[in-house]
Amino acid sequence: MPNPFSKGGNWYKGNLHTHTTVSDGQLSPQETIGIYAEGDYDFLALTDHDAVVDYGGLDPHGMTLISGCELAVGRGRLGQTLHVVALGLDTTPWLPESDDFAELVAAISEECELCFAAHPFWSLNEAGDLLDVRGHVGVEVYNATCQNGCARGPSEIVWDILLAHGQRLWGFAVDDAHLREDYCQAWVWVKSAENSVAAILEALKAGHFYASNGPQIYDVVVEAEQVWVHCSPCRQIAVVEATPGGGYTTGRLAAQPPFEEIRLPHHLAARPFRVEVVDDQGHKAWTNPFFPDEVER
Ligand SMILES: [Zn+2]
Ligand SMILES: [Zn+2]
Repeated sequence: MPNPFSKGGNWYKGNLHTHTTVSDGQLSPQETIGIYAEGDYDFLALTDHDAVVDYGGLDPHGMTLISGCELAVGRGRLGQTLHVVALGLDTTPWLPESDDFAELVAAISEECELCFAAHPFWSLNEAGDLLDVRGHVGVEVYNATCQNGCARGPSEIVWDILLAHGQRLWGFAVDDAHLREDYCQAWVWVKSAENSVAAILEALKAGHFYASNGPQIYDVVVEAEQVWVHCSPCRQIAVVEATPGGGYTTGRLAAQPPFEEIRLPHHLAARPFRVEVVDDQGHKAWTNPFFPDEVER
């Protein structure tokens, strides 16, 4: 992916996974839009279970509204479903009668602009169950509702195993809000020429974004053997490589936190890496992976 931090355009903040009274959320679509507009969000997707909300007649309060829904499909080794967030579609997709995640995600991806796997940790979706799945652009690396509900918000391990297997997947942070206490806690910052549905979806597909539930990443410059990171004050900055034991953190530096600017080593010639930062409250931000064959230095 071309590095979004070195790309032209503006940063736009959005949440891509939210529920309303159209399925099992507490607030109406209009009330939900109002909350995100007050939170200074630039775009929002309402993603009710098995239902695409009609935005006609709703006041977007200046935000870009992206159509979407969430589908629970298939049957994993524990009998569990895979939840998939689909964006950019008019109606709920028609799906084949099947238990097979790969067949079902392929069918979903045919009928939307993009889709990603929701909350693997909450669902106990195993990386092994997702190895043959294609057509999605990423996984939720963090889901605020899953964290608030049963402490299963983060899913780095599933993402990293799939990256180590050579998949090219982006990491999404989302609220998945159903209840009043779950709004505006996790989001993506998208680098895009403009804040339109088409431009935001295109940027998401291309991986031109990063995910966060707190810290901001201002800049990432990938040099030949090091990466330079500039972020809001953090207690740890890490290079996480897609290989067993691969990576490096500020915990191996003589310098003490807080860190705002740092250079860390990488082995991009051999394998992809992503950058992760953690602030004093334990909140995180995650870049998308940089791949050996695509990165612009
Ligand atoms: Zn779900
Ligand atoms: Zn959901």
